[in-house]
Amino acid sequence: MQNVTLKMSPQQIKKMEEHYQPYQREKTPAYSVFQAKKDQVTVTAYQTGKVVFQGREAEEEAGIWGKVLPAEKTDSQLAGLPHDFQQWSVLGSDEVGNGSYFGPLVVGAAYVSRENLPLIKELGVKDSKSLTDGQIRSIAQDVKVSIPYKLLVVQPQKYNQIQPQMTQNKMKALLHNQALGFVLKEVSPEEPEAILIDQFEPRESYLKHIKESPVPVTQNLYFATKGESAHPAVAAASILARDQFLQEMDRLSEQAGMKLPGGANALVDETAAEILLQPYLDLGHFAKLHFSNTQKAQKIAQKRKNRN
Ligand code: MN
Repeated sequence: MQNVTLKMSPQQIKKMEEHYQPYQREKTPAYSVFQAKKDQVTVTAYQTGKVVFQGREAEEEAGIWGKVLPAEKTDSQLAGLPHDFQQWSVLGSDEVGNGSYFGPLVVGAAYVSRENLPLIKELGVKDSKSLTDGQIRSIAQDVKVSIPYKLLVVQPQKYNQIQPQMTQNKMKALLHNQALGFVLKEVSPEEPEAILIDQFEPRESYLKHIKESPVPVTQNLYFATKGESAHPAVAAASILARDQFLQEMDRLSEQAGMKLPGGANALVDETAAEILLQPYLDLGHFAKLHFSNTQKAQKIAQKRKNRN
C-alpha cells in the first residue's frame, strides 16, 4: 500500500474538496477537512494543510495535484505568462457554483481590451474573493455595460441530466469553450492577444475535453491557477459569474420558500432534508444530486419522518 503526502495551501485544499466532493465520506478523521475515497485511493486533507493519499494508486492520484498545483509550479505557471501580460488585451473565463450543492453551475467569459483596462480597474474589478456579495452585485452591473461578456448557466435540473454522462471537468471545459467562443465572435474582427482560463484541470485534459465541441477555441490559450490575479479579464468574468450565481440562488430560494445556503456543509444537508420533507418540492430542481449531501439529507429526512 502506497502512502503519499502533499503540503497544500488552503486555496488548493478548497479546490481539492470541490474536486473530490462526489466521493466524500460522511465520517472523517479528527482534524481533517474532508476525506474521500475515489477508486482505489483514500484522500484525507487535514487542517494543517497536509493531504495524505493512501492506496494502490496513491502516487498517480497525488501526481494530479503535484503536477497541477504545487507551490513551485503555480508560481512558475504564473511566471510562465509573458511579463507584461497584465497590459495585454485578454479574453478571460471562470466558473462559479461547482462546489455548491444548491444552485447552478455558471461560467462567465469577459473581454478586456488594452483600452478598457483603466476603466475596468476604476470599476473596482479585482479578485472576487476579496469582495462582499453586495460589492460583487454592484460592480457586475457596471461591468456589464462596459465590456463584451457571456454568461452560461446550467440549472441543477439540467446539470443532473448531464452529470451521469460526463465528469464535472468535462462539463466545465465545454462551457468555458462555449462562453469564450461567444465573446470571440462578438468582438470579431478584433482579436484578443490572449485567452486566459482560470485553471481547473491540466491543459492536456482541457484540450481533450473540448475536442468534441463544434468550435474548439485553442488559439493563444493560457491557463493560470490564480487567473483572477493574472489578468483583470478573469477577475471580471469571475465577478459576473458570481453575480449571476447569487441571482439564481435568490430565485431558487424564493421558489423553495427557504434560504438556500451555498457550499456543501451541514447546514446544506439540513436545508436539503427540509426540501425532501416538502411533498411539493423536487430536490433535483434546486441541487446537484451527485454530491454526497443528497444521502446525508435523505438520512436526516428519514429520521424526522420516523420521529413523527
Ligand atoms: Mn475558477
